[in-house]
Amino acid sequence: MTEQDVLGLVRKNILHLSPYSSARDEYQGKEAIFLDANENPFETGYNRYPDPRQTVLKQRIGRIKGVVPANMFLGNGSDEAIDLLIRAFCEPRIDNVIAPQPTYGMYEVSATIQDIEVRRPLLNKDFSLNIDEILNVADMHSKILFLCSPNNPTGNCHSKIKLQQLLERFNGIVVVDEAYIDFAPEKSIMPELKNHPNLVVLQTFSKAWGLAGLRLGMAFANKVVIEILNKVKPPYNINVLTQHAVSEALTRKATTRKWLNTIIEQRGVLIEELRQLKAVEKIYPTDANFILIKVGDPKAVYDYLVKKGVVIRDRSKVALCEGCLRITVGLPDENKALLKALTNFA
Ligand SMILES: *Cc1c(COP(=O)(O)O)cnc(C)c1O
Repeated sequence: MTEQDVLGLVRKNILHLSPYSSARDEYQGKEAIFLDANENPFETGYNRYPDPRQTVLKQRIGRIKGVVPANMFLGNGSDEAIDLLIRAFCEPRIDNVIAPQPTYGMYEVSATIQDIEVRRPLLNKDFSLNIDEILNVADMHSKILFLCSPNNPTGNCHSKIKLQQLLERFNGIVVVDEAYIDFAPEKSIMPELKNHPNLVVLQTFSKAWGLAGLRLGMAFANKVVIEILNKVKPPYNINVLTQHAVSEALTRKATTRKWLNTIIEQRGVLIEELRQLKAVEKIYPTDANFILIKVGDPKAVYDYLVKKGVVIRDRSKVALCEGCLRITVGLPDENKALLKALTNFA
């Protein structure tokens, strides 16, 4: 697919949209008397609007990710990027998106809010991608294919070869959601960005970086896609606090690395210990910071754990996940408490 092909996928009203030009878009100098944005002149630390282009933050993220700001979009969580992609590419009641199941729920919610049909082919039994199923449900109105790797709630990475095949064969935008990539032995698919203008890679500060409360997500893509996202985003979507706090967090790479190692190590401990428990019928392989397990009576296990003060996620109603519970890897003591409670489950 070429950049021109990608532009052909954009909704016509969006392609021709002249975006809102904020006061800070029009004047970007630093030293001045700012009487352009109707702000309150008294200093509170937050009386000025944030940088709508997040220039400093993007440069810092770019250094870590090896991406220039022109190929980067920042959203109020990756959830905002998901929503904007759907609104930019999908014509309500005409276009559709494809989300192989089971997967992250926000693709479907965001699409449904826009009255966009969601096509839901199943993953294979081992949660790998079924390329034929996916391409079979696709038609000329299928604008976005959402692939999550490592996948939530199953935990597995999808094979690079299959992702590549879909990038070549699907005639729309392919979103690869890598929210959990830092926990995986697999490398990011980002190097493929230069070969595929239809590829969008989502990452987030909510998981490995420990900043879910700040709401910052990243979309990496060809500049054509990034320009479209910048056009449709709210002008000040990333607030001043978030821009500063994430810039600051980026200087603590060693600490983040240490957390990551502890979480990965604890994941191994949890898997070993869960294996010993009678209540646990199956533990699915995971490349993320959570573990999907299968039990005989998921509701009973869930309720029992809640009574013991441990909250996990019941995924047993989700396609292919009958009897399944999803457990996030916590601190060593939290994991011990979970195991102790599960051991006592009759
Ligand atoms: C947690 C998660 C995200 C992160 O969303 P944010 O809005 O960035 O917090 C994205 N995708 C998946 C699959 C997730 O599980």
